[in-house]
Amino acid sequence: MKGTGHVLVIGVDGVRFDLLGPDRTPSIWALGQDGFLAPVPVDETTPTWSGPCWATIATGTGVDGHAITGNDLTGHRLAEHPDFVTLATRAGLPTLLAVSGWPPLALPEDGGPLFAEASRREFVAVPETSLAWDSRDETSLAIWDAADEATTRRAMAILAEDAPRVSFVYLGGVDITGHVTGAGGAYRAAARAADQRVGRLLGTVLSRRSYQRENWTIVVVTDHGHLDGGGHGGREPEVTTAWAAAAGPGIRPGGAPLISRQEEIAPLVLDAAGW
Ligand SMILES: [Zn+2]
Repeated sequence: MKGTGHVLVIGVDGVRFDLLGPDRTPSIWALGQDGFLAPVPVDETTPTWSGPCWATIATGTGVDGHAITGNDLTGHRLAEHPDFVTLATRAGLPTLLAVSGWPPLALPEDGGPLFAEASRREFVAVPETSLAWDSRDETSLAIWDAADEATTRRAMAILAEDAPRVSFVYLGGVDITGHVTGAGGAYRAAARAADQRVGRLLGTVLSRRSYQRENWTIVVVTDHGHLDGGGHGGREPEVTTAWAAAAGPGIRPGGAPLISRQEEIAPLVLDAAGW
C-alpha cells in the first residue's frame, strides 16, 4: 500500500454529454475546469445498457472480461474482475458504497451486486413500481429524486465524518427521467438536480478540516446517453457518447484528459487512492 489518496467517484446514470455546460451543470463543468471533462465513447462491443457500462467502469475490463451484457448481471465474471471498491476494501482501505434505487449495483438481486465488498454500504430503495420498465411513470420521478437526495445526504454525512479512501455514490434519477419523459425539459431539470448534488458532495469534501492533507481526487462519470425521445441500448451518437470529469493532485488543469475509454476509470481511481 502506497500513498494517502482519497477518491470520491460519483456515478450519474444516463446523462448526455451534449447537455453539460457552465449554466446547465455548473458543478460538473467546474470540476472539468479544475481537471478535465471529456467525452468517453461506449466501445463497439458494449451494449449501451447500465449493467455492462457500469461493469466496465467499475472493473476496468470490458464485456470480454466481466461478461455482463444487460441489466441482469447473472452469469457475470466479477469474481475474476472485481470492482474498484472491492479491490480497495480487500487492500484494507476504508470504503463507501452509496447507491440510489437500482438494486443489482449493491444488493444480491438480478445477478448482483456489481460492487461486491465495501466497508460501508448504503442503499436507498425505491418501490418496485418505480423500478420496473412497464410501470414507472411521472410519479416515479419524484420518488427517484427523493431516493437520490437521501443517498446524497447519507454519503455527505459519512464523507464529513470518516473520509473513506475510495467512495462510489450512484444517482439514478436522470436516467429514469429520460426513460419516462425523453431528453427534454424534465430531463434537463433532473440533470441540474444531480449536478447540485454533485456540488454538495464536493462541498462536503472541501470543507473537511483535514482536506489539505488528504489528497482528494474527484471523479464524476456517466454510463451512456439517451435518445431525444428517451431510451438507450443502440449505437446512436447521443447514446454512445458517455463522459467523465476528474480533478485531483495527479491531474493537470486544462491538460489532456486522462480518460478516453470506460476501462480507464477504475485504474485511475485505484492509482489516485494509492493502491
Ligand atoms: Zn444507465
